[in-house]
Amino acid sequence: MVSGEQTNPFVPAARPVIGEEEIEAAVRVLRSGMVVQGPEVAAFEQEFSALVEGRHCVAVNAGTSALLLSLAALGIGAGDEVIVPSFTFAATANAVSLVGATPVFADIDPDTFCLDAEAAAAAIGPRTAAILPVDLYGHPAGAGFVELAERHGLALVEDAAQAHGAALHGRPVGAFGQAASFSFYPTKNMHALEGGMVVTPDAEVARKLRLLRNQGMERRYANELVGYNLRMTDVAAAIGRVQLAKLAGWNEQRRANAAKLDAGLDGIPGVLTPVLAPGATHVYHQYTVRVPAERRDALHEHLTGQGVGSAVYYPTPVHRLPPFAEIGAGAVLPATEDAAARVLSLPVHPSLADADLDRVVAAVRSFDFGDLR
Ligand SMILES: *Cc1c(COP(=O)(O)O)cnc(C)c1O
Repeated sequence: MVSGEQTNPFVPAARPVIGEEEIEAAVRVLRSGMVVQGPEVAAFEQEFSALVEGRHCVAVNAGTSALLLSLAALGIGAGDEVIVPSFTFAATANAVSLVGATPVFADIDPDTFCLDAEAAAAAIGPRTAAILPVDLYGHPAGAGFVELAERHGLALVEDAAQAHGAALHGRPVGAFGQAASFSFYPTKNMHALEGGMVVTPDAEVARKLRLLRNQGMERRYANELVGYNLRMTDVAAAIGRVQLAKLAGWNEQRRANAAKLDAGLDGIPGVLTPVLAPGATHVYHQYTVRVPAERRDALHEHLTGQGVGSAVYYPTPVHRLPPFAEIGAGAVLPATEDAAARVLSLPVHPSLADADLDRVVAAVRSFDFGDLR
């Protein structure tokens, strides 16, 4: 670097927040000597329930565990089919397979990237036990599934791992189904280092969840069923509580950042900015644009060269990943394939300064999209 030259640090695609408050909370618990699931977990569950209309909340060690337990607690297992989108993180389908059920892949709505209600309806068969929509990128998956699940006597399980605080017509995600799961992985809208939360309106299901996460015990050595150890530590919960208190502000900042990107990227031929369903409150876990498939990877390289992080979530639809290729062999999912080929997520996290967002916009604008006709 030439002396006196302006240094422009890389604008990262994501930046987990581990601030002084989080560190103090963790240290406070460590110093107490009581670090396993205890009062911090109980308080975190209580506080999180305010986000989901007061539903029962059960904290676990990861979002994948939350998804797994939500299915297990509803009695979904071997012989059952669960309808899932293929355009998601593999954890969604992994959880279905891990309880012994079979994921059935259905296509997405090309606008919102979330499971399409009509496609899900068409995938219902005699073995279907549940529908598992994903609030992808922080966009609520849709209320259409409540009625659909009820009409067919199916469970509705929400994968809200990317959508803490998102809502549809004012109703928060996590409050639609018989169970919902959230993730507290570091890059999610809020984190607990690692962690997850299962949400349910049913006290009996909540009790089963508590048993399943802890070896089937409510009282020590009084095991009632075969369970796992998926407990959250009090250290993680203490960090989660700090983050939860900041979630609303961070989500506001994400929306403000998205609005700035929307305005800055408006009118670039070849760039399609995020589309919201009517009534959707988006929390922009990702800000994902669609660009021509044949220029997507070149745009990513160009942005990297300009000091701007970007990422493709998800380049390979789950039904074509090796573990699911056999199950998914017959799936015809044109909107999923199109999205996988065209999406690129740009930085939108709440730590970005206005100047960072300007740099993101300028970097996209300086890219040669070529002949788009
Ligand atoms: C992150 C994520 C998960 C899994 O959460 P972990 O905490 O990483 O186990 C599940 N589903 C989706 C859609 C996710 O983005």
